[in-house]
Amino acid sequence: MESVRTDFYLDGGWVPADGRQSLEVHNPSTEEVIGTVPAGTADDVDRAVAAARAAFEGWAATDPVDRAAHLDRLHAELTARADDIARTVATELGTPLKVATRVQAGLPLTVLRSYVDLAAHPPAPQTVGNSLVVHEPVGVIGAITPWNYPLHQIVAKLAPALAAGCTLVLKPSELTPLTAYLLFDAIDAADLPPGVVNLVTGTGPIVGEALAGHPDVDLVSFTGSTATGRRIAHLAADRIARVALELGGKSANVILDDADLTAAIKVGVGNAMLNSGQTCTAWTRMLVHRDRYDEALDLAAKAVAGYRLGDPFDPATRLGPLVSAAQRDRVREHITRGLADGGRLVAGGPDTPVPSRGWFVAPTIIADVDPDSALAQEEVFGPVLAVIPVDDDDHAVRVANNSRYGLAGAVWSTDEERAVQVARRLRTGAVDINGAPFNPLAPFGGYKQSGLGRELGTHGLAEFCELKAIQR
Ligand code: NAD
Repeated sequence: MESVRTDFYLDGGWVPADGRQSLEVHNPSTEEVIGTVPAGTADDVDRAVAAARAAFEGWAATDPVDRAAHLDRLHAELTARADDIARTVATELGTPLKVATRVQAGLPLTVLRSYVDLAAHPPAPQTVGNSLVVHEPVGVIGAITPWNYPLHQIVAKLAPALAAGCTLVLKPSELTPLTAYLLFDAIDAADLPPGVVNLVTGTGPIVGEALAGHPDVDLVSFTGSTATGRRIAHLAADRIARVALELGGKSANVILDDADLTAAIKVGVGNAMLNSGQTCTAWTRMLVHRDRYDEALDLAAKAVAGYRLGDPFDPATRLGPLVSAAQRDRVREHITRGLADGGRLVAGGPDTPVPSRGWFVAPTIIADVDPDSALAQEEVFGPVLAVIPVDDDDHAVRVANNSRYGLAGAVWSTDEERAVQVARRLRTGAVDINGAPFNPLAPFGGYKQSGLGRELGTHGLAEFCELKAIQR
């Protein structure tokens, strides 16, 4: 059934996008059109920013406990739509329904809940000598989000922004906008004050650029590719607007010689392939001590042999398609180039059969990857794992840090102290030791070209605050 959305959400209600062109939304498993959304213009962005600006003073002055109550109502409305959200993500992105339910719908609810609590307890004023240091909301936020975790990435901006007292205009990815519409159905039902949150759909070059370059947007919070992040930083620089950038990654999974190899490979391969490899934090470079290298490759090949590709709604499916034909083609090119550059195919590859309909790529493992080659340096954003042998801990750290990215990583060792020492030397915003679970309250963000700033928890809230010193 097609989902036809014809409105923007402006100033507290749905507003018909009369006269606008529409953008098609596809199901990547079937290649069929499953809906349309309006393609906004710079005028629509102007209206949305004006609504957010008008609402700012009132929302910033709202008692934090009342702001928390609004977020709590939104949490209830979103919870009521969780099944619909999981099914919509499975349809427009292709994430298998089980993962979509747990991660794509479940994680944003956890994050939103954390900000219900944090909103009610804003950072206390601090006394520094004769100064009172207070946190104040930054102002109007322009939020621009990608398609790979379409609801989580919106909530990771919207929840702390609202908790801090900011108002917001969202431009979601044009590839997965139907999930954003479900969020705004929930926002509408939660009865947030008019103008506090606004939605304009459309393309990056038109709506995204208008929002990032808008003179009345105080902070542009962006998640997406490093290339677009760079463009957004340029647009914001003209008016010295703040930017928060969550960008790409090429994270290393460092497996030391004393690691529990069975666990390290099972979890490591699962991490690299999650969401068909379309995860910014994916551990896409596996660095294995030479003494355990052959054993590791054998285990990794066995692990992916059990991954079934197919319909995201089939409970037996482990991997869905890639989001678009363009993404599928890009990933295939990376595989071909990786092999031409001297990589050795261990599993998957161009000749492995995939479903004939849909934008699928078989899970692929390439060994002996040159750490300087494109496959080790560029973000593939597909189910492709590069395996690299290393000689010792120092060598592993050098190879891991040989990247312009610095988002995430992992270390495996039965000696936790040793693992922590290696983790401390990795130039990345996060490192998981021995498969430790994701912590939705820990700061999330990147070093180097993986971004600027942090999301989630109290650190994420701080991104949406200015500091003011009042001397007495
Ligand atoms: P993208 O940069 O192409 O698009 C992201 C968003 O930016 C979309 O809404 C798009 O319409 C918009 N956009 C595109 N061009 C624009 C422009 N010139 N001005 C303003 N907005 C513009 O990225 P994508 O393909 O949607 O997402 C994949 C990328 O996102 C990957 O590189 C991935 O690593 C990254 N990512 C990073 C994180 C993180 O937290 N670090 C999380 C998820 C994804």
